[in-house]
Amino acid sequence: MTCPPYVCKCLECNTEFESTAIILLSGYHGGDFWSTAGSPCCNADYEELDKAPSESSAVTTLFIRRKSREAYPEGKLDSGGRWYPSEFETTPGCMSIRSPSAAYPYNLLTHCRTKKHIKELISIRGVDAVRTRFLEA
Ligand SMILES: [Zn+2]
Ligand SMILES: [Zn+2]
Repeated sequence: MTCPPYVCKCLECNTEFESTAIILLSGYHGGDFWSTAGSPCCNADYEELDKAPSESSAVTTLFIRRKSREAYPEGKLDSGGRWYPSEFETTPGCMSIRSPSAAYPYNLLTHCRTKKHIKELISIRGVDAVRTRFLEA
């Protein structure tokens, strides 16, 4: 048996996620690892897969956390209340997004919550760097 986090698969929609997502969503940090909470995507039964967390499971975990507002993309607001990603958070794909304006102050924040952005972030910065920065805090 490997150490946590484990890769789990939702039996409802087959999405893979890490066991840390279950601990986080059930509000538990350490201790009783065998949480009775369901999968973070469907709150359904899940099975543990006998493999180490992969790049794709890091994408899924971070996506779910950002979507559920358990975690926020890294960035800051300027004096006009417009949100900009940090240097680490910024990827080439972000350049095709319109710069935030008074009318759309959070369009980059919304973009940084997308699976496409998270996938690119992990492929560029490396799964370990992203895991350390965003999934083990
Ligand atoms: Zn599911
Ligand atoms: Zn981006």
